[in-house]
Amino acid sequence: MIVLKFGGSSVADATCMRQAAELVKAALPRSPVVVLSAMGKSTNGLFDAAKAAEVGDLTGAMERQRSLMAFHRTAAAELFGGDAPEGLDASLTDLFGELELLLRGVAMLRELSPRSMDAIASLGERLSTRIFAAFVDGAWVDARTVLLTDATFGEATPQAAALRTRAAQHLAPLLGLGRAVVTQGYIGATEDGLTTTLGRGGSDYSAALFGAALGAEEVQIWTDVEGVLTCDPRIVPEALPIPELSFAEAAELAAFGAKVLHPATIQPAVEAGIPVTVRHTQKPNGRFTTISAQVRSGRPITALASRGPVTVLTVSSSRMLAQSGFLARLFEVFGRRGVSVDLVATAEVSVSLTVEADVPLKALIQDLSAFATVEVNEGRAIIAAVGERLKSTPGLGAKLLTALGDINVEMISMGANEINLSLVVRQESTADALRRLHRVLVGGAS
Ligand code: ASP
Ligand code: MG
Repeated sequence: MIVLKFGGSSVADATCMRQAAELVKAALPRSPVVVLSAMGKSTNGLFDAAKAAEVGDLTGAMERQRSLMAFHRTAAAELFGGDAPEGLDASLTDLFGELELLLRGVAMLRELSPRSMDAIASLGERLSTRIFAAFVDGAWVDARTVLLTDATFGEATPQAAALRTRAAQHLAPLLGLGRAVVTQGYIGATEDGLTTTLGRGGSDYSAALFGAALGAEEVQIWTDVEGVLTCDPRIVPEALPIPELSFAEAAELAAFGAKVLHPATIQPAVEAGIPVTVRHTQKPNGRFTTISAQVRSGRPITALASRGPVTVLTVSSSRMLAQSGFLARLFEVFGRRGVSVDLVATAEVSVSLTVEADVPLKALIQDLSAFATVEVNEGRAIIAAVGERLKSTPGLGAKLLTALGDINVEMISMGANEINLSLVVRQESTADALRRLHRVLVGGAS
């Protein structure tokens, strides 16, 4: 079996839902479980309605409820014309009735607990799946009967063992019957049946959890990009989707704010050895990225990312550096000031490190000056070259520096996992540096 997850933008309206339905239809021979997000931005709409109710603005809350209702009913009307399957209208009416009751309750008490918020937020996925399941004539499953979580409302933790048992009970028997199984992302329930959510954007996580629980062949994440790109396309227009990405590479890129799935969300699938693919709903036959525990092929550098501005601090002490305890003393200052250090490079009499641009610089300098001299260089950026094969490719460093030409590299650091080579340059050189590196190391013939 396989899992197909469609994000909000892939089920934003009737047209999108039709496209998604085509993909589900094509996947029928593989016994698909379809995990859906709420339509478009309706989760935001539910949050807004709840917040209006919380401050006692019942009129505002009900207006939002009505506009969500109109939005869903329009999509349903467009999908089915006059003849929606029996029961769909009644189930939508029930769900909007439930939403109204919840909002009235919140408005009356002017109190919005995370528990109430989850109950309200769950409506987005419950609505989208009702409409979609009817459209593809799928078997609708309430994810809350399967995805058991703890009671941390708003950010609940799934209980993997119970999930497996329940998936075997409630989902597995529905597979292979020629119909898709349609369920909700993002939501679950406690042992007592209270509705929970996994946190915003939680549908990818749900998809990975369901995939792992059912031993899927593949988890497909259908979205609005052709996979994970080799670089930010706004900076490097020739950036392309990465065919194969390892979990560790995805984690490095995510840490640099690259537009990639949050690795934690797909961990259950990757751990279970299930490949996760990221695909474009509107270009189903186009390129895509496969993320898995290990990758087999590819270039030495898989992708480039950058982050800035950062500040470089170079701390020197001719007297103390060679002595033991210097680094401990140095890092004690950062620890005490609550400043996290990113890159570190050491030389005989100095240590260079990068910190975020908004750290309490004056206080840091004052503390460090007690035992060392400090040079500060603001307005720098970190460029990361990420790739599983970095460590096993000789001569790469030279190639990299050559590609950069006259762009001055102020610091170089190889991550401990040896798949991230980071360079520090002046922030204004970032785009230029990324383009040059991309041309030579990522985009060019290997
Ligand atoms: N609908 C939820 C959200 O917007 C979950 C998701 O889309 O992944 O956060
Ligand atoms: Mg989403």
